[in-house]
Amino acid sequence: MKKSVQKNKKSSESLESLRERVRKTIRLLKRAYPDAKCSLNHSNAFELLVATILSAQCTDERVNIVTADLFRKYQKPEDYLAVSPRELEKDIQSTGFFRNKTKSLQGTAKVLSETYGGRVPDTMDQLLELPGVARKTANVVLGNAFGVKAGIVVDTHVSRISHRLGLSAETTADKIEQDLIQLVPKRDWVIFPHLLIAHGRKICRARNPACDQCVIEKYCPSSFLKTGVMPGN
Ligand code: SF4
Repeated sequence: MKKSVQKNKKSSESLESLRERVRKTIRLLKRAYPDAKCSLNHSNAFELLVATILSAQCTDERVNIVTADLFRKYQKPEDYLAVSPRELEKDIQSTGFFRNKTKSLQGTAKVLSETYGGRVPDTMDQLLELPGVARKTANVVLGNAFGVKAGIVVDTHVSRISHRLGLSAETTADKIEQDLIQLVPKRDWVIFPHLLIAHGRKICRARNPACDQCVIEKYCPSSFLKTGVMPGN
């Protein structure tokens, strides 16, 4: 693990120095985004699991619009099994990839109903057994519904900003997560992605990041104020 981070970072910065830079970065981001939290509306672990499955390739805003009605109609796993795939597809259509998402939702509902008495399990291994649930979804549910720090959510913002900050050069979410796990203090594993997502939406955007307004600019090796080159993805 150690080798992976050291191999991937751009400079010869030591692991200890990288960790210190991450700690300082987190402190500044917490100050800049004190309200950073999961932006998928939910009132329990099951709703968060459903919302996270729907959020693949879709904005959280769109998911929240769809789940406002969905969660009134479907409250427990059995409700998702009581309708035809066609009906559920129609209810979630605007989130995109609705046929695959319907399969995941009904497959997951079946396992929850038959194996877990309708409840969402709270371990990584059990969540990964659910159809359509990969590490990102499992981490979202574990961290935000159960307060279990099993890993770090890596989405497009986390991946992009981790690259720009020189925290990982990996290209897959699972490998980026493994690099981050070595650098981010465990107490911050849940809040860290929320901070990067807030920063990615407002300042460190995919195109034209506002390095001149960035609160962590002094800790960022990719800042165009230092390199003169606009950071890529
Ligand atoms: S300095 Fe620029 S590239 Fe670095 S984190 Fe800030 S906005 Fe992103």
